[in-house]
Amino acid sequence: MATVPIAQTDTPEARKYNRTKRWLEFSDLIVGFVFLLLLVLTHGSARLRDFAYLGARQYYTVAVALYVFMLMLISKLLSAPLEFYGFRLEHKYNLSNQKLGAWLLDEAKSFAVGLVLILVLVEVLYATIRAYPEHWWLIMWAVFVGLTVLLAQLAPVVLLPIFYHFEPLKNDGLRERLTKLSERAGTRVRGVYEWKISEKSKKANAALTGLGKTRRIIVADTLLQNYSDDEIEAVLAHELGHHVHAHIPKSILLQMGITFVGFWAADHILRYAVEQRSMFQGLADFANLPLLALIATLVGLLLSPVLNAFSRHNERQADEYAWKSIPSIGPFVTGMHKLASQNLAEEHPPRWIELLFHSHPSIGKRTAAAEAWNAKQPTGTA
Ligand SMILES: [Zn+2]
Repeated sequence: MATVPIAQTDTPEARKYNRTKRWLEFSDLIVGFVFLLLLVLTHGSARLRDFAYLGARQYYTVAVALYVFMLMLISKLLSAPLEFYGFRLEHKYNLSNQKLGAWLLDEAKSFAVGLVLILVLVEVLYATIRAYPEHWWLIMWAVFVGLTVLLAQLAPVVLLPIFYHFEPLKNDGLRERLTKLSERAGTRVRGVYEWKISEKSKKANAALTGLGKTRRIIVADTLLQNYSDDEIEAVLAHELGHHVHAHIPKSILLQMGITFVGFWAADHILRYAVEQRSMFQGLADFANLPLLALIATLVGLLLSPVLNAFSRHNERQADEYAWKSIPSIGPFVTGMHKLASQNLAEEHPPRWIELLFHSHPSIGKRTAAAEAWNAKQPTGTA
């Protein structure tokens, strides 16, 4: 039987919410970008560096740390109004449970985590530039790759628990279904965890995280409470699809390639700025950090449509894996519609928006693809 297409529209509420969120992200990006640009083009960064040296009594390593701290604090203060607006937005659309105090605590925690990670990275960066001015970019690339792998491994056991509580999934029926799914796939997931999102948000989500021994599927409690076991099985099958297709290692490999070119380009641009334009006192002058950050931001921005296309490809693969693994696509389709309405996602976003900015195909496309796939199966149901 041919499926009748559902009206290709989203509620005005969903459209407005998503439009506002896009503007918010865009503004945040512009604020950060202009801040870095001003630091590079004016004497702002040099002044901040001199101030850091003064505070550090001319001790280089301490001055680097002070400089990074001031830079991160200023940029946090600059983006704070937009972040607060984002917090209010979630409440306005009745998508959040989080009180202001808890939100502020989360903001402080993420600032602290970011500060520690960036401090370590920047200290290693300038120590490397000083010790190996010719090959610093190659060494830093290797350090960066090592750190990416380490963080991917630590994410579910160290990073995520700073913000959320996790518990092993208690539902025996679901655990058994997942075990059967993974046995059929000839693989084994190391665990399924209930992700206590409901303390903060009314939205639902699920993910595959970790690497090697830490890899696991996490499912939001908001999803476990409101979806049927069949729908949850469809979600688990999708996450298992990511694992079977090795999407996390593949993403890390892609990132390795991109950062290699990025570090190489950074070395060339930095040398040009120092040697031809006399913008800084040398390669090891940490006043050039905003220039490096600017290069990283630009590379990320230019490549994000490509990375999003790669991610959407992975999502389609995981979806197809799910359809093949579950008895019928019905629960996949109903689960998707539930997710869209619970998260106030647009099922049919503007095409160019999806192409440029979305890491997932729209829910409208995902359900349509499921139905098209099903129609081609000899034993098609639903
Ligand atoms: Zn996915």
